[in-house]
Amino acid sequence: METSGCDRILVVDDAGDNRILLQKILTRQCFEVYCCADGNSAIAALPSFKPDLILLDVVMEEMDGFETCAQIKANPKYEDIPVIFVTAADERHHISKGFRAGAVDYITKPINATEVLARVSCHLKLSHQTRQLKEAATNFETILKGITVPIFTVSPSGEFQFINPACENILGYSLAHLKQHTFFDLLSSPYKEQIQQSFGQHSRFSSLKEYGRPHEIKWQPPDGSQSALEVSICPVSLDQTYFVVSIHDITSQKNREQVLEQQAMMDALTRLPNRRMLFEFLTQELAHQQRHPRPLLVMFCDIDYFKKYNDHYGHLDGDQTLKKVGEALQQCVRKKDDIVARYGGEEFVIVITGVAQEIAEKISQNTIDQVAALDIPHTASSVATHVTLSAGAIWLPSASNQTSHSLLEHADKVLYQAKESGRNQLCFEQVTSFSKAAG
Ligand SMILES: [Mg+2]
Repeated sequence: METSGCDRILVVDDAGDNRILLQKILTRQCFEVYCCADGNSAIAALPSFKPDLILLDVVMEEMDGFETCAQIKANPKYEDIPVIFVTAADERHHISKGFRAGAVDYITKPINATEVLARVSCHLKLSHQTRQLKEAATNFETILKGITVPIFTVSPSGEFQFINPACENILGYSLAHLKQHTFFDLLSSPYKEQIQQSFGQHSRFSSLKEYGRPHEIKWQPPDGSQSALEVSICPVSLDQTYFVVSIHDITSQKNREQVLEQQAMMDALTRLPNRRMLFEFLTQELAHQQRHPRPLLVMFCDIDYFKKYNDHYGHLDGDQTLKKVGEALQQCVRKKDDIVARYGGEEFVIVITGVAQEIAEKISQNTIDQVAALDIPHTASSVATHVTLSAGAIWLPSASNQTSHSLLEHADKVLYQAKESGRNQLCFEQVTSFSKAAG
């Protein structure tokens, strides 16, 4: 069977007259035509003739058109070849059965040349376009597989369709595993809802703009680690609409940022929260107090005669003492809800939440006692032979109408009283009406 560059049409009909007529109509239009008188020889001709389209008679002896069509469509190699049924006008009940068997159209006898050519041309054109789209999709997938940028594609309903090896490495999961979830499960609100809505409304003609903004997500690979990923979404319309999601692993960048953030919040010498962290803590606590007022203890501490200590023992010993005092103070608070911060120099601030006044007073006194119990020699001190603290503590039943600044300012004033009264002591004040006490 020689084939030319023309489209090839396989004509299957058990009536010789019909075969001759169809062949005549089609060859006149430069189609390459091959005729078979029954279904079996038509199926046998497929591998060598490789038709672009099949005209198939419905009523034939041995194997009818439906069965022939079903067998052709059952083979993946030939499933895309368009089949047009040729049926008598009084056999219209065959039409729906023909479509179910996989036909794309039908022509009624008696055969009309114009109709045959119109339908054949139309379906060849459609078939070529479909093939081109499929080839483009295959090429597209090949490109995605090859590139080193981690990429996956999802359907408009969020179903994972394809994942390239680079992306599999980062996510740590295969496509089969990801298919148990949707892409939307990876996202957090409100971005999740926005994307879900945009995907649902997306058509082949939608603009690309709405997906251009990269979005950060948290990801947990199977090894239990935590990753930070940045996802960018781009819609692609080929034989259907896909969303190509490219991934950028920003875990190290995020970790570096976190370390810097922690360093910025921490005092390098004592490893205690610094002043910035203290203000952050107080801001959060005061916001919490707006909804759930609770008692608050704010305590300002100062190491007595610390300048003299440094002058006498040197700054290296001074640093060691600051560390020891910081550790001792930290022993006096609960880790989670309270804070011991190095305010600056030899000043520390302790904030304790939700404690009754008597307990607050005991804790305050205990911190002073604990530092004294360290028994760090301080011969330059005028109040003791060891390192001691002066402390000003204020306790409020509720701090809902305070600011961080007003609380610290007041505690500092009480500390000043402790110093004025001879140092190495606690001044404790119960603040019931802040404005009155502050005044
Ligand atoms: Mg027939």
